[in-house]
Amino acid sequence: MRVITGKTKLLGVIGDPIEHSLSPVMHNAAISELGLDYVYVPLPVKTEDLKRAIAGFEAIGLIGFNVTIPHKQAIIPLLLEISPAAQMVGAVNTVWRTERGWSGTNTDVEGFIAPLKALSQDWHKITPVILGNGGAARAVVTGLSQLGCLKLHVVGRDRQKLEQFKQSWQNLPIYDSIAVHGWTELPELISGSELLVNTTPVGMYPDVERSPIDAALLEQLQPGAIAYDLIYTPNPTQFLKLARQQGAIAIDGLEMLVQQGAAALQIWLQQPVPIDIMRQSLKEIVYRREI
Ligand code: NAP
Repeated sequence: MRVITGKTKLLGVIGDPIEHSLSPVMHNAAISELGLDYVYVPLPVKTEDLKRAIAGFEAIGLIGFNVTIPHKQAIIPLLLEISPAAQMVGAVNTVWRTERGWSGTNTDVEGFIAPLKALSQDWHKITPVILGNGGAARAVVTGLSQLGCLKLHVVGRDRQKLEQFKQSWQNLPIYDSIAVHGWTELPELISGSELLVNTTPVGMYPDVERSPIDAALLEQLQPGAIAYDLIYTPNPTQFLKLARQQGAIAIDGLEMLVQQGAAALQIWLQQPVPIDIMRQSLKEIVYRREI
């Protein structure tokens, strides 16, 4: 049994609500495996309490923390500095303490691209199609641009939000790479794409029979294309099952979740972390939630 003492170092995740977060499971599994005297806890923080909470973290010597909804943007002005990736996404999910104050980054970007890097493609020749234009799509666009994709198609259902999404990148080199489209344009985009990414919540538990794209349209996917779903419950999603039937390579959201967590833990611990243990701990809990 792990013993918490007065010397145990504290890590955590802030959000509201936070009770369903899977992060404590994977981080504590990794900490146990490494035999370190740390503990990672969920910290419920309401919007109106964010500033006081961060000051309190400083006072109690918290080593670092993850940030989830609704604080990913609101935390930025409270930090000393943020990474270029967090600037591009416009959101922070990982914070750590430095001598001068709190630093932040967005490890969703690293988490998203980690499984793609393992496939080693000529990314500058690949034109991804991204379904959805919310918060996660921003990490996806940033990651694909880091990988070297020169053109990105973003598909959304609200013309105004799509335009705002495009405009939000206007002072960055990536602006010219992004083309936005309505869902009606999807049939033409799919057949020419080698990478299709779902960032919408369509198909997420409990709507497990749904897919953002139906089977007939997915038939136009090129054999050997990559289908990537950010959803991690169920695992795999209906979208990934259908894409696999077309001969696509499927990547699930669980891997992104594991990899973004591993990237954060590595920042806090300053040492390699046991990714397999983190993945296994998540798989066990996701499987239990599905039954
Ligand atoms: P979000 O900011 O609410 O964005 C969701 C996007 O999906 C919006 O563009 C939304 O369009 C669109 N959408 C929602 N319902 C739709 C529907 N029925 N048909 C078509 N489009 C629809 O949410 P998010 O934070 O980006 O998260 C999106 C998904 O990614 C969630 O399932 C989340 O669990 C997952 N995610 C996974 C990871 C991971 O580590 N694996 C990390 C982050 C997020 P409107 O704006 O028009 O509503």
